[in-house]
Amino acid sequence: TRLANFLKARIRTVPDWPIAGVNFRDVTTLFNDPEAFRVMIEAFSLDCTQLGVDVIAAIDARGFIIGGALSYQLHKPFVLVRKKGKLPYTTHTEDYALEYGTASIQINTDACAPGQRVLLVDDLIATGGTLLAAAKLFAKVEAEVVGVAAIIDLPELGGSAKLREAGLPVHSLCSFS
Ligand code: 5GP
Repeated sequence: TRLANFLKARIRTVPDWPIAGVNFRDVTTLFNDPEAFRVMIEAFSLDCTQLGVDVIAAIDARGFIIGGALSYQLHKPFVLVRKKGKLPYTTHTEDYALEYGTASIQINTDACAPGQRVLLVDDLIATGGTLLAAAKLFAKVEAEVVGVAAIIDLPELGGSAKLREAGLPVHSLCSFS
């Protein structure tokens, strides 16, 4: 699509980062471009309206940039999904596997109310492990994750397929193979 091509032309690819053989998709160039930032928020806003979203939740740290703007635009509550150890209040925790080792993410126990319709936001979907773990956090507060949104999908890594299999509609703006 035109939107996907517009965004892809503005994403910087850094070869061999963080390790040899990986092409890192650097989205700082999108956030640095006011037109690109605006069209991303407009596109996600339409998805939110269609899904009837009550709450925007985003993943530490690049997800916060998109989620914060989206929440402001839609006048909806914003929830932080943080790396472990950053939230001072009582939390729910979910551990998940990385390529090497494990990671943990947390939300506040009062992050949202049972039955609220949550959109999960991050910059990129690779294996889908991060967003799947985040969805489990919202299950613990009995909220309903009605979709996940990301700027970039890497479909060959299988994450978006895994998320769809788990019943989570995936909204991505572009993809790289
Ligand atoms: P997953 O959990 O889907 O395997 O990995 C996605 C997470 O890793 C996201 O939080 C994302 O920020 C980060 N990530 C992995 N690879 C890339 C990449 O090439 N570019 C960017 N911007 N983030 C990445």
